[in-house]
Amino acid sequence: MSEEGKDDRRRLDAARTWIVDPLDGTHDYPFLDSMEWAVHVALVEDQRPTAAAVAVPGLDQVFATDLDGPGEPSERNEPLVISGRSNAYLASEVADEIGGKVTACGSSGVKAMLVVSGAVDVYVHGSGLYEWDVCAPAAVAEALGMVVTDLEGNEILYNKSQPIVRGFVVARPEFAEATRETLDRLVGPVR
Ligand SMILES: [Mg+2]
Repeated sequence: MSEEGKDDRRRLDAARTWIVDPLDGTHDYPFLDSMEWAVHVALVEDQRPTAAAVAVPGLDQVFATDLDGPGEPSERNEPLVISGRSNAYLASEVADEIGGKVTACGSSGVKAMLVVSGAVDVYVHGSGLYEWDVCAPAAVAEALGMVVTDLEGNEILYNKSQPIVRGFVVARPEFAEATRETLDRLVGPVR
């Protein structure tokens, strides 16, 4: 299943499904100086990713599920919470809670990998995404020790009939609990 492909639905009966976003962050791609785009590839079996990689050419790096994480806890005085350029409300609430500040860039894959690399501490995406935007970054982040959920704190399942994910949260372990508490308080009523 791919953002650029036609969904003939054969994936729903397949034992193994590849979920691919050949160019995540397309909005930023025309700007050649931008690092804000990524390539996502994930293998899904029984609705869960079993292997994945995210290439971020702007960082000259490929992140994958067979690497080690999560590295040392961040020693920033002000933790960084990243979100998209629009709709940073939930991210700013999380930043307030952990005494940090908000930053933004394009591409869900890039944002998730900035958490993995330790460049930022939490990624909060408050609205719906397609599975190809989320699957590979989520799989890599989780394999490398990050805490990954949808907006409501649930495990994300893939290769669903309707391939939509309700929000995307990636937190370094030391900020996972405060992030969850903040989001539960804010999105709780819509559960
Ligand atoms: Mg995408």
